Amino acid sequence: MLDQNFVSGIGNIYASEILFLSKINPNKKGCLFKKKDCKKIIINCKKVLSNAIKKGGSSIKDFKNTEGELGGFQKNFNVYEREGLNCKRSKCKGTIRKKTISNRSTFFCNFCQK
Ligand SMILES: [Zn+2]
Repeated sequence: MLDQNFVSGIGNIYASEILFLSKINPNKKGCLFKKKDCKKIIINCKKVLSNAIKKGGSSIKDFKNTEGELGGFQKNFNVYEREGLNCKRSKCKGTIRKKTISNRSTFFCNFCQK
């Protein structure tokens, strides 16, 4: 059942969401991460993954429905597939941008992710 495209798609979602929660711009190179950034990434990684596990099988079914819609799962996204929309972080005036890095789409806020 594990389709490679599906798995890497999920990876993009998580990567985008984790970087958003950590307020880290995806353009930032790994070597520029401070210790503080790494800690934030680890904490938010756990948060995003445990949330996804809680949603369980039904969200994966929604994700793969034949109309190509993301269903209920999408409601949990802060940035993924929200290009051009306002940032969900309160008091942030930023807009969600999409960036493709080696064929993978990353979504991020142009304002609060440095
Ligand atoms: Zn923002």
